[in-house]
Amino acid sequence: MTTVDRTPLDRAGVIALDARHVWHPYTPMQRHFDEGPSLVIQRAEGSRLVDVDGRQYIDGNSSWWTALLGHNHPRLVATLTAQAQQLCHVALAGITHEPVARLAAELCAVAPSGLERVFFSDDGSTAVEVAIKMTAQYWAQNGKPRRQRLVALGSAFHGETLGATALGGVEVFRKPFRGLLMDCTHLSVTPGAETRAAEELQRMLSNGRDEIAAVVVEPMVQGAGGMRIYDPELLRSIRQSTREHDVFLVVDEVFTGYGRTGPMWACEHAGISPDVLCVAKGFTAGILPMAATLCTQRIFEGFLGDADRALYYGHTYCGHALGAAVAREVLKVYDEEAILENAKPKAARLAAAFQRFGQMPGVSNPRSIGMIGAVNVAGASGYLQRTGAAVCAEAIRLGVYLRPLGDVVYVAPPLNIPDDDLDSLLGVVERALAVAAD
Ligand SMILES: *Cc1c(COP(=O)(O)O)cnc(C)c1O
Repeated sequence: MTTVDRTPLDRAGVIALDARHVWHPYTPMQRHFDEGPSLVIQRAEGSRLVDVDGRQYIDGNSSWWTALLGHNHPRLVATLTAQAQQLCHVALAGITHEPVARLAAELCAVAPSGLERVFFSDDGSTAVEVAIKMTAQYWAQNGKPRRQRLVALGSAFHGETLGATALGGVEVFRKPFRGLLMDCTHLSVTPGAETRAAEELQRMLSNGRDEIAAVVVEPMVQGAGGMRIYDPELLRSIRQSTREHDVFLVVDEVFTGYGRTGPMWACEHAGISPDVLCVAKGFTAGILPMAATLCTQRIFEGFLGDADRALYYGHTYCGHALGAAVAREVLKVYDEEAILENAKPKAARLAAAFQRFGQMPGVSNPRSIGMIGAVNVAGASGYLQRTGAAVCAEAIRLGVYLRPLGDVVYVAPPLNIPDDDLDSLLGVVERALAVAAD
């Protein structure tokens, strides 16, 4: 046994230990060894990250789309601390507690209509796995056992577990696991040609509805697939055809929920309610990993009766009391600080800036929705190209943390980012995009 050194580390010390032992997500590690981590962060507050040398960076993507209320919101930290004094975690099988019971009720009250039951889990991927098992098992024991196939959109991203990976449509993420993935049908969606996708789905459902359990979509915008925004008419049409054929519609609001696209739920752009809705990222506003899968009373009732009809599914930390307390406070902050209302003028500024960026040399396809703005930069397209990385490296040098999605450079800042910080963020993005012209 070696003794553990407890003296605080400086930047070089952290980087050396990291290089020796940490395997980073979504990171070509060989390149990481050459370039080192982009930032060594010590603390965060509001829309800013602070590194070990005290340098501040505006968090341009809310730390992987989670910190929708900024970092360390004082009300959320106070709630977390108070709940920790009382109860951190207890199993949710056969046990309940006030934070989880109240959260379920409060979540249903703000959810699209018809969603009345909440199944808790840990993160976006598990929220999607729950949705897959819930819909497949429903049909298995409610008269349509052949309905075991899922339909998803091309370029979709639904998470990392194998079920979620199978639903995904980004080839680089799927390729190594091809032999392990369940067979899903992907419906390709080209922004601008949504009608074709709607007709194709209609055909798929007419021909195969006896085999299709559910259609799973990211509503309005496909995030990790490259900030691909599509017409709300497609979402309306998907709702209509799934209802017509009595196939479940699962809406993955892990990224889009909690006002990221403007309204509380991206579903609202199309005025629809799904049969199942997944929520994670903004759910605890980046404080703790926690997720929920909401469903209709009809689906829930399909699991009542004999014990062998139950959903035998659950993660160790389901309904985590700390997470539940924080998630409740998040909803309260949205309400009392009028987060969605106050984000509207910010979203308008962001949209105008991205329209302008679209005119720059080497920059194309400007788009925005709510507090998301994106452009494509020149060079090969796809997740592995490097111009996007060069633009984001320049942004970091200028004091803004950004991370590209291949050739897509985007921002998704906290919804309550102060106007000054938003202006600085957009100014830096503009300067950094000049790199794309070289
Ligand atoms: C991030 C994301 C997920 C996966 O969430 P994790 O918390 O990373 O497991 C699922 N769906 C969508 C739409 C996402 O953006």
